[in-house]
Amino acid sequence: MTTTAPRDEQLWSRCDGCSSLLYRKRLRRNLDVCPECGSHARLDAPDRVAQLVDPDSFTPLPEQAVRVDPIGFVDALPYPHRLGAARTGTGLDEAVVCGTARVGGHPVALAVMDFRFLGGSLGCAVGELITRTAERALADAVPLVLVTASGGARMQEGALSLMQMATVSQAVAGLREAGLLTVSVITDPTYGGVAASFATNTDVVLAESGARLGFAGPRVIRQVTGATLPEGFQTAEFLLRHGQVDLVVPRHALRGRLTALLAAAEAGRRVPVPRQEPAPRPAAGADAPAGATGPARDAWETVRTARHPGRPTTLDYLETAFDGFVELHGDRLGADCPAIVGGVARLDGRPVMVIGHQKGHTTAELVARNFGMASPAGHRKALRLMRLAARLHLPVVTLVDTPGADPGVDAEQQGQAAAIAENILALSVLPTPVVAVVTGEGGSGGALALAVADRVLMLEHAVYSVISPEGCAAILWPDSSAAPQAARALRLTAADLCRLGVVDEVVPEPRPAAHGDPAAAAELLGRAVTANLAPLLSVPPATLVRRRRQRFRRFGAARAVDGTGPHDVSRNGTRTEVAP
Ligand SMILES: [Zn+2]
Repeated sequence: MTTTAPRDEQLWSRCDGCSSLLYRKRLRRNLDVCPECGSHARLDAPDRVAQLVDPDSFTPLPEQAVRVDPIGFVDALPYPHRLGAARTGTGLDEAVVCGTARVGGHPVALAVMDFRFLGGSLGCAVGELITRTAERALADAVPLVLVTASGGARMQEGALSLMQMATVSQAVAGLREAGLLTVSVITDPTYGGVAASFATNTDVVLAESGARLGFAGPRVIRQVTGATLPEGFQTAEFLLRHGQVDLVVPRHALRGRLTALLAAAEAGRRVPVPRQEPAPRPAAGADAPAGATGPARDAWETVRTARHPGRPTTLDYLETAFDGFVELHGDRLGADCPAIVGGVARLDGRPVMVIGHQKGHTTAELVARNFGMASPAGHRKALRLMRLAARLHLPVVTLVDTPGADPGVDAEQQGQAAAIAENILALSVLPTPVVAVVTGEGGSGGALALAVADRVLMLEHAVYSVISPEGCAAILWPDSSAAPQAARALRLTAADLCRLGVVDEVVPEPRPAAHGDPAAAAELLGRAVTANLAPLLSVPPATLVRRRRQRFRRFGAARAVDGTGPHDVSRNGTRTEVAP
């Protein structure tokens, strides 16, 4: 926003976005967002702090910036002159304001950069102050919130400013090790060394609407490459599409989104992680499969029911069985796969990380979601969220509904097999409870990439299979018209898989099936997940992981030649000890 004339300075501003002349007070009430065009004006750090934190909750850090000129830098003016002018111009010591505060009642340590101060550049004092803020977060065991606005590292301090990228990143790593949430809020503009360190290596990256972020600025890229840059290059929406940020948030919603994330992190920390082993559960084979109900349906009919376009999707369940969903996007590597959705939500009041395949009800929705077939980017997004959940002590709930992983050329080039493999590995050792629910189609490796869990549930009319009946028929029968026969042969229904021990419990559906009464289906799913999650919450993570690995080991079928192997597997999938 630019002021119109010195005399009107306090009264009127002109919007940089649409040139509307705006009454200054009205603009302030609207958080400096133009009511006409939605353009977000840049905020200085004190205004940002005031908007973001609970009233009167901000306490500045006791540490103050030390004025340094480590390389005696002089351009048209000596660096100390420029520093002095920045101090006078902004009333700040440096390009960052640091302190502790509350956001939505949740305590945080907070560092807010100020672009007015030498372009928000990262120098030795800024780096040190942000590091101290992170250390304060660690000492107080509270989340760290970083609001970035910077052109990059401060040239006037030479390579020493570059070192600050490492210093702050190490402090972020310390919080990661301690399981404390770190959030960066990208504001316009965030570039260079700040973009390539603490703006993007935090747990959750929120971009304010209208913010731009990049390593190199558009001018440099044009100079170096001669390329014409695409529309909206490096804008928040561009970043979201390319998997670089979790969310784009309009300014008026920032506090609310932050509060939801902080609440989830705080709830995870409140649950004491048990250290003692509880009494052992019965051996895996002794678990009676629960909930297998209803008259047996034909397997092919079940396949068709599982694929019914009216069947509730993951986002439907997030709306109904869960609440307070904050979706997190992107693999941070270049893409955001629409076939997998994930984020924090509450189930029966408890924060959980939900990750699921997303299909759709209409053809347009199905196409937009690639029919629920995840790309490698989708699997990497899921992996990122699983690991975040483990760090924050949040249980993971996965909802599986995919015909299979994306079989395209791009997917192969981007390492589909390795992406699935990495998820299976990560889930095998994830030190937090995992409950998986096959809600529709559990298709092959793409399903398993979300289903290596402590408890695997399956909706009554879902299917779970190593291959689609059509695919199986095409390979093993004369032609794919034998799909119904293949469906029967594959034992892919919930009741079958419960008998085989692949699935622990069948979640009943309303009559005739979930698509007939999505609300009732959501109720039944929510209840089943809550009941299965509850006993896992008191199990120490190491025990959880050991049992999860045992759970999957029990499907093996081999024994040592001398008969001393650990076990073999009987026809019905229950484990039998082999006498030595
Ligand atoms: Zn405007």
